[in-house]
Amino acid sequence: MASAQNTDEELFDEFLSANGHETTPAGWDHSYNKKQCPECGGIHDDGAQQCSVCGWFPER
Ligand SMILES: [Zn+2]
Repeated sequence: MASAQNTDEELFDEFLSANGHETTPAGWDHSYNKKQCPECGGIHDDGAQQCSVCGWFPER
């Protein structure tokens, strides 16, 4: 059902646009119990304030 999967992806993009979200995240992604940098994908401890790999940090 490849056509169904394509439809889901399109709907997801529309969902993000409808809620005014940029495609670039404004905060940490999460992987398991760790913070994950949305820019480079680096994994950091939960107390991390800035990505030590690429220097990214949350805007707020
Ligand atoms: Zn990073």
